[in-house]
Amino acid sequence: MICPKRTSELLDIHLAPFKDKDPAWEIGISKIAGRGVVATRHLKRGEIIFRDSPLLIGLAAHEEDSLNACSVCMILLPDTRFMCRQGCGLPVCSLCAKKKQHKTDCDLFRSWGPNEPEVANSVIIRLLCVARAINLNKDQRDLIYCLQANLDNNHRTEVRNAAKCFKKFPTDKKVIEIMNRTVAVIRTNGFDKTTDRTNDNQEFNYRALYPLFGVMNHDCIPNSYYTFEEKTNNMIVRAAVDIPEGFEITTTYTKLFTGNIARHLFLKMKKNFTCKCPRCSDPTEKGAYISGLYCRDTSCNGLVVPEITGLPHPNWNCLECKQKSTHAQMMKSQDFASGAINAKNNSNSLRTLIQYLNEKSDQFIPDSNHVIIDAKLSVLQRLNQSREDCSEELAANTRLRYSRDIMQVMDKLGMGDSLVRTQLQEQVRKEEERRAIKQAAEAEKQRKLAELQEKAAEADKLLAALAANGDETAAAIIAAETAPSCAPTGATAPTPAPAAELA
Ligand SMILES: [Zn+2]
Ligand SMILES: [Zn+2]
Ligand SMILES: [Zn+2]
Ligand SMILES: [Zn+2]
Repeated sequence: MICPKRTSELLDIHLAPFKDKDPAWEIGISKIAGRGVVATRHLKRGEIIFRDSPLLIGLAAHEEDSLNACSVCMILLPDTRFMCRQGCGLPVCSLCAKKKQHKTDCDLFRSWGPNEPEVANSVIIRLLCVARAINLNKDQRDLIYCLQANLDNNHRTEVRNAAKCFKKFPTDKKVIEIMNRTVAVIRTNGFDKTTDRTNDNQEFNYRALYPLFGVMNHDCIPNSYYTFEEKTNNMIVRAAVDIPEGFEITTTYTKLFTGNIARHLFLKMKKNFTCKCPRCSDPTEKGAYISGLYCRDTSCNGLVVPEITGLPHPNWNCLECKQKSTHAQMMKSQDFASGAINAKNNSNSLRTLIQYLNEKSDQFIPDSNHVIIDAKLSVLQRLNQSREDCSEELAANTRLRYSRDIMQVMDKLGMGDSLVRTQLQEQVRKEEERRAIKQAAEAEKQRKLAELQEKAAEADKLLAALAANGDETAAAIIAAETAPSCAPTGATAPTPAPAAELA
């Protein structure tokens, strides 16, 4: 079914609107898994590799979401009267209610007869992205079938549950099969709550399937990163590092800063594969020690890392004294540290959290550990909103220090550009600029002060010279004019003679 040639053809059709005559990528054989996206020429760091548009996109409608967003433009609506008046069970804005997309959605859902069309129901709203696959053309639907799908026991649950929300839900096996397949494909390759795709820690709030992106394989240190165009939701994929011709272009399915064991578990359970990338094969994670913990022997300063990677419960080894520990023992230390940091993170005082990270936490958990990296990222995010109870100085210093710390971890891992790095670089740039301005102002103040002192010294010299010549009247005038406030306290300044007398 999944033939690289047919996939390429269908992707070309899907991406035709971008009119990219000489694409920098092709579908080829992958060293990671089956087929993948391969560079057709040398790509420079930062260069756009491709654009992709969503084949399917819809509201994620999580249980915790407010459901008053338009199902077409996805803009948040006032929380009264946002449901379609035609009775399709979808929220829609007055502009989109007249659009072709809503007419198609509306006809489909009305034909199924929603039980309570006037009440926003997350199950119905969430299903829309999947149900839209029914109205795709044949090439588009074939493209969905060309993408990998993890057809596990759960993938049918969503459609089965949604069926209960309609009076006349389709029973046609083909229609149900298209929806079930689409659920599985979105879960495997798209953006969905089960995929936990976080775009290197940036949330993407929709449910969506980007087909070319979906073909890309995973690497724990991806050589590409992506952003979205706000208006169109089109995806732009860029080279994170220089990529030689013929190399596979990779993305990441996991968060960038989780440790080896957590990534391994996530990929195994959610993606059904074991990653064998260089980071996963190295217990020290290229010297970044993201899973690293302190040795249980308190007289030893060594770091403890998993003995081998790719196991859910490995033994751990101290790199210094070589003492072995069980996974359970080390998880106790990790859980203790995570609990302590999270408690501080959840407390209201940002200042306390920063002080704790700067002064206390490294007594029981190394600064390289993922809990600390996550806490620092969360501090930076909070500081981005406001400095809360931190002084301006503390906020500024923290921004600079934590941004640099995290970029250092990225450098160790060999991570190129990413959205996170761009944001951190921006923080550093802003802070360095602020410091430069402050320094320049300080230098200017010093310069002015020196100038004044020089003038005062000159005046003193003049005074001394005049006094020596016995011209005391002139000296008194100059003294009064140049430095009246400099006169020693208690000394009475001589009354200056009238100007006429001098002349
Ligand atoms: Zn709208
Ligand atoms: Zn409608
Ligand atoms: Zn890996
Ligand atoms: Zn040790």
